[in-house]
Amino acid sequence: EDRIQKISSVIRVIPDFPKPGIMFQDITTLLLDTKAFKDCIDLFVERYKDKNISVVAGVEARGFIFGPPIALAIGAKFVPLRKPGKLPGEVIREEYSLEYGEDIMEMHVGAVNAGERAIIVDDLIATGGTLRAALNLLEHVGVEVVECTCLIELPELKGRDRLGDKPLFVLVSAS
Ligand code: IMP
Repeated sequence: EDRIQKISSVIRVIPDFPKPGIMFQDITTLLLDTKAFKDCIDLFVERYKDKNISVVAGVEARGFIFGPPIALAIGAKFVPLRKPGKLPGEVIREEYSLEYGEDIMEMHVGAVNAGERAIIVDDLIATGGTLRAALNLLEHVGVEVVECTCLIELPELKGRDRLGDKPLFVLVSAS
C-alpha cells in the first residue's frame, strides 16, 4: 500500500550508529513528515479500534512517541514501560538479557488490572528481547496481550520467534 511505502521511504538509515557495523533505523525523520507520521498512527488505529483494547503499553523511549496517539484514538489508557529507577511509585520489574549484558524494565503497580486487553508498542524489533520482557511484565499481572506492534522489524534477527505464539504486527520489514 502507498502509505507503507511512503513511511518506509522516510525512515533514515544511519550506518555505524551507535557502534561500527550497526545500521541504525532512525524514525526521527518519519516524525518530520506530517503526512507519513499521521499515516503511521492511522494504520495502527485502523487495526486496533473496535478490538476492545483498554491498554496501550509503550516501551521506553520510542514507544512513548507512537503509543500515546494510538491510545487516544482508540480510547485506551497509555502505560509507560520504563528503564529502571525512572518510575516514582511502586513498580514490578522484569529482568532480561541484551546482546551484551542485562537490562530491567519496570511498570507501575496498579497501572493495569488483570483481565484487561492490551497491545505493546515499540519502534523496532531486533532480537525480540525487549518485547519479550514487556510481554512477561504484562502477563505476570494477568493482562491479556492481544498483539505486539512495531513500525520496523529486522527479520534476519528472528525476534518474532522470541514472542512464541503471540502475534506481532509491523509496518515495515528492513534488512
Ligand atoms: P531487541 O530487544 O533486540 O528486539 O531490540 C529492540 C530495542 O532496541 C527497541 O527498544 C529499539 O528501540 C532498539 N533498537 C535496536 N535497534 C534499533 C535501530 O536500528 N533503530 C532504533 N531502535 C533500535
